[in-house]
Amino acid sequence: MAGAHIVSPDDLTALTALRRLLHQHPETRFDVAATADRVAEELDDAGLEVTMEVGGSGVVGTLRRGTAQRSIGLRADLDALPIDERGDLAHTSQIAGAHHGCGHDGHITMLLGAAQALAQAEDLDGTVQFIFQPAEETGRGAQAMIDDGLLDRFPIDAVFGLHNLPGLPVGHLATRVGTFTAFEDVFTIEIDGSGGHASAPQHTTDPLVAGAEMVLALQTVVSRAVDPADHAVVSVTEFVTDGARNIIPGQVTIRGDSRGYDDRVSSTIRTRMERIAAGVAAAHGARAQIDHRREFAPVVNTEAATHAAVRAAQRTDGMSVDATAGRMGFSEDFAQYLNHRPGCLVVLGNGIEGPHGRSLHHPSYDFNDAAIPFGVGYWCALVRGWLGP
Ligand SMILES: [Zn+2]
Repeated sequence: MAGAHIVSPDDLTALTALRRLLHQHPETRFDVAATADRVAEELDDAGLEVTMEVGGSGVVGTLRRGTAQRSIGLRADLDALPIDERGDLAHTSQIAGAHHGCGHDGHITMLLGAAQALAQAEDLDGTVQFIFQPAEETGRGAQAMIDDGLLDRFPIDAVFGLHNLPGLPVGHLATRVGTFTAFEDVFTIEIDGSGGHASAPQHTTDPLVAGAEMVLALQTVVSRAVDPADHAVVSVTEFVTDGARNIIPGQVTIRGDSRGYDDRVSSTIRTRMERIAAGVAAAHGARAQIDHRREFAPVVNTEAATHAAVRAAQRTDGMSVDATAGRMGFSEDFAQYLNHRPGCLVVLGNGIEGPHGRSLHHPSYDFNDAAIPFGVGYWCALVRGWLGP
C-alpha cells in the first residue's frame, strides 16, 4: 500500500534538507536555471531519462516501466515570487528580491521524492512524465512548455498538479470535479484628454476627473451587472497620471484585474467595463481605450481524473480527503494543460499555525516540511493506481 510511510526517515531528512536549500536559493519567472539543474541532477541520480530546456527552463523526467502504453504526467512548478522574504528562519532566502512565498520549493521536493520512490518500484507498467515548469507565477510557463511540444514529445493520458494550501491541516487534501480555481483577467484603460495649467481647467479636458468617476463606476460592474448567484470581483489597483502639482494631466492610465469562475461572467464584466469606460470618457469630452486580457484561465478538473486523485488520497496513509471542496479564489496556470488533456489539480494542507498558516504570497510564508511525506505518498499512490497491476 502506498502511504506516508513510503518516505523513510533518512529520505525525509534528505528531502527536508533539499527543500530548505531550494528555499534559500529561489529563482523567479523563466530564470530558474540553477533550480532546473538541481532537479535534473536529482532525476538523473534516480535513474530517470532527463530532458532539459523544455519551454525555456522546464525539465521533464521520464520513468518507463513494462510495456503498457498507459502514461501519466505529474507537474510541479519551479519559480519563486519576485519579492524579498521577511523572516528569521535558518533557511531564509539568500537572494534579494526572490522568495519561495508560494511553496513551490515544497512542490519540487515532493515530486522529486515521488520520482525517487517510484524509480524503485517494480510493479508499474507504463510511463510517468515528471514535469517541472518555470514561470507559474506569471501564468506563462505551462503554455511555454506546451508550445515547445511538451505533450507531443512526452505523451500523457492525463495530467495532475498539486498546490500546497495554508489554512488546511497537514495531511488533508482537497479537490473537486469541475471548476476549482478562478480566472484572472487584467485590464488597462487609457484616458486621453488635454492637460494644462491647474489655474485654468476650463481650457483643458481633464482625464483625471473622468478617471476618478470611472473608478467609482467600475464598482457597479459586480453589484449591478453580474448575477448575484455568480462569483466575481473587479479591483482597480493602479491610477497613473502624467500631471504634476500645478499641471492638469493630459493622460491617465487605470489598471486592475477581475476574477471569477465562469467565462460568461468574464464576458459580462468586459462588456460592462467597455461601456463604462467609453460612456464616462465621452461625458467629459475625453477618449478612453480599454485593453482586456486573459491572464489565467480557470482550472476545470475532469471527472475520471479527479476520481483517480481522490482514490489515491484515500489510499495514502494518514491522509484525509475532501472530494467536494469549495472553489479556490487563486489562479493557477495548470489550467493550460487541461485545455489539452484530462486532469486534476488538488490542494494539500500546509498547516494552520505560524509561517505555514499565513496566506500564500505572504513575505514570511514557508512551506511545511511535515507535508512532504503526504505529498510523496499521494503522488506514489496516484501513479500506482494509474499504472499499477
Ligand atoms: Zn503557487
